[in-house]
Amino acid sequence: MKTFQFHNPTKLLFGKGMLSKIKEEIPAYGKRVLVVYGGGSIKRSGLYDQVMVHLKEIGAFVAELSGVEPNPRLTTVNKGIALIKENNLDFILAVGGGSVIDCAKAIAAGSRYDGDVWDIVTGKASASSAMPIGTVLTLAATGSEMNGNSVITNWETNSKRAFNSIHVYPRFSILDPELTYTVPLDQTIYGIVDIMSHVFEQYFHASSNAPLQERIGEAILQSVIVTAPKLVKDLHNYENRETMMLNGTLALNGITAMGVQADWATHDIEHAVSAVHDIPHGGGLAILFPRWMEHVAGSKPYKIAQLGVRVFKLDPTGKSDSLLAMETITSLKQFWSSIGAPTSLSYYEIDHKEIELMADRAMVAPTIGSYVPLNKEDVKSILQRSL
Ligand code: NAP
Ligand code: FE
Repeated sequence: MKTFQFHNPTKLLFGKGMLSKIKEEIPAYGKRVLVVYGGGSIKRSGLYDQVMVHLKEIGAFVAELSGVEPNPRLTTVNKGIALIKENNLDFILAVGGGSVIDCAKAIAAGSRYDGDVWDIVTGKASASSAMPIGTVLTLAATGSEMNGNSVITNWETNSKRAFNSIHVYPRFSILDPELTYTVPLDQTIYGIVDIMSHVFEQYFHASSNAPLQERIGEAILQSVIVTAPKLVKDLHNYENRETMMLNGTLALNGITAMGVQADWATHDIEHAVSAVHDIPHGGGLAILFPRWMEHVAGSKPYKIAQLGVRVFKLDPTGKSDSLLAMETITSLKQFWSSIGAPTSLSYYEIDHKEIELMADRAMVAPTIGSYVPLNKEDVKSILQRSL
């Protein structure tokens, strides 16, 4: 293992009816609140009204930033920063999925930075502080409710980039599985794929001796694999929504990344596809991850074989790692197809024309990934396979 520091300051408030806890949590940070939300799902579900009732009860002054896009945009982040400054606000409450939370994090960091917030997103500058934020999660997927990551799209330059800062961890996150009942089937599937992909990115690390981290990752994957087929058939089942919500939070809150150098190449490639074609993150990952595995299996089949034996219950008797790796990839493709995930970029009407641009945008460093570092030609090959 590498040396590491672990500090996750987010307080989870998990379960039915936990929303009212915002009345106890928010006043510690002040009563001038920016409520950040998306395109209207919280209004249709009635959650918006409930949040406003609670904020009124504590006498909060409320400003609103609505219309945060799936794949949140820099322009929207800048609107939020302007609202903070105009209204002298104390606290940001993000009510929504990963896009809303990520947008709130960038606003939080950007409103305490004198320059352009894009500098922070791209790593040209690092956040030295941020406004406090809290979240009410409505979609199990990203883990953003308990991590310091934020992914923002600059649509003008077709760049989708991620930053990480200890300052933007939510102070608290309300995780009520009932708030995810209204997530439609497609977004539920994308969330499941994203959760599994987060485990994979950390499982395929470039470090030695991380047996516990790998076993924790395998346990999360097994929990997802048992729950997902039941969940997609019955979107209003409390237990399955509950299990998936916790799966999502634990898949990317740092526990499986302790002491390892995670990969993240597939996320880098997916961000590039989304930055050019604005497709759902989980949909892109469902297409790209098996192709990434195929690409790296040639040189490093071992860990893929381990995944297949331990998680997909393949029989290893008499088989080489290469054969087991191929069987693992087939099992993963079959599993994702069985729950209804997309299988090729043509599903989103993406063809070869923009492969060069997407590969260019994926190269956020001279090589990406660590399990097997990829150059631009590798990325083009993975995109080509994914068509
Ligand atoms: P999302 O983009 O936040 O939401 C997707 C869609 O689901 C939106 O149209 C949203 O509608 C709808 N929705 C959300 N909750 C709903 C509910 N309860 N009922 C009905 N509809 C609901 O999805 P996401 O997968 O959570 O976030 C994706 C973003 O997070 C991407 O930009 C991705 O790159 C990023 N990401 C971040 C991390 C991280 O660690 N921070 C990790 C992976 C990915 P409304 O807009 O109307 O609410
Ligand atoms: Fe993700």
